[in-house]
Amino acid sequence: MRKLSIQELDLKNRRVFIRVDFNVPIENGKVADDTRIRATLPTLRHASQAGARLILGSHLGRPKGKPRPDLTLAPVARRLSEIFGTPVGFLDEMVGPGSKKRMESLEEGVILLENLRFSPGEEKNDPEFSRALADLAELYVNDAFGTAHRAHASTVGMVKHFPKAAAGLLMEKELHYLDMALTDPARPFIALLGGAKVSDKIEVVRNLLTKVDRLLIGGGMAYTFLRAQGLHVGRSLVEEDKIALARELLKQAGDKLELPADHVIAESLEGGSAVKTVPTGEIPEGWMGLDIGPETVATYRKHIAKAKMIVWNGPMGVFEKEPFAQGTLKIAEAVASSGATTIVGGGDSILAVHRAGVAERITHISTGGGASLEFLAGAKLPGVEVLTDA
Ligand code: AMP
Repeated sequence: MRKLSIQELDLKNRRVFIRVDFNVPIENGKVADDTRIRATLPTLRHASQAGARLILGSHLGRPKGKPRPDLTLAPVARRLSEIFGTPVGFLDEMVGPGSKKRMESLEEGVILLENLRFSPGEEKNDPEFSRALADLAELYVNDAFGTAHRAHASTVGMVKHFPKAAAGLLMEKELHYLDMALTDPARPFIALLGGAKVSDKIEVVRNLLTKVDRLLIGGGMAYTFLRAQGLHVGRSLVEEDKIALARELLKQAGDKLELPADHVIAESLEGGSAVKTVPTGEIPEGWMGLDIGPETVATYRKHIAKAKMIVWNGPMGVFEKEPFAQGTLKIAEAVASSGATTIVGGGDSILAVHRAGVAERITHISTGGGASLEFLAGAKLPGVEVLTDA
């Protein structure tokens, strides 16, 4: 499924529209975390060094089709200019005669358009808005994997106006690793899934069960499965309406799917509340499972140590609270030390590998939360489908 890469485009003296993901937190008119801006720098450098002029488009937050001063991309243009080391123009009129004229002269080598979602045409994938955006440039590149699961004007609608559409370097890297996991994984291939809800990850469980050698479950989602086995889980997080489905998945999984053998439990999440560790099936009434216990960590570690490919999404417990963080942090350490090709996705798991100090030792940290889950669930991402096949 390889897609045309920006590296295969002739960029010299061309105006290239690059869909980037600059959906960053803004505080007091300043970029509070520039990780996503830095993540696109390799693509921007490549295009700039190849002699292209860059027209960058992104969304920021959810302005719902109307301009909102707190969601302007102007602070992003300033920050990008600092870290890219070149002046970055900013255009608050996204499309129209004025912007087209500005593009044709394009004094700056790089220009950032205002938040695309200020126009109602963006999320509606409106044909006219799509055409007007496409009119600004001669080539199209998408480097925003995190929005590739949305069919919007800048990810889908405008693309058909270009003879070729390529993936940026970041998009290419995401597709390379996620596709490798689904189509050509080194084995044993294991997946670790955690986080709060089963409902968010049912399709991922279903699809991964057909691909992996073993699926290790932790976090809140484990309790719906344990209940489906008829076990006592006390007041642990259970999605009642998903118990039947969990039972069906357990049947489909056979012995591939593994659930925690013990749990760190408490009566409440408040500090000062008593905490203890109990085996599966012995969570008392009124208590909640809030982390995987040491026996589970030891078993999961053994599987992790033998694996050659690992996909991890979702924390093993309420790791934001110190008494329930150990399971997630120890799993992070084990994943990083496994020697396997490792892919970590989802905001909380990414935070956990940083907190455990092992982020540098993860092969690929997938930044597109929703998009990477949809990809792992086997869905086709509209923003990827429209890119030219290599
Ligand atoms: P998600 O966004 O689905 O990956 O869920 C992440 C959230 O799941 C984190 O905020 C965790 O605190 C929460 N979580 C993990 N384990 C549990 C648990 N056993 N009970 C309740 N919440 C949990």
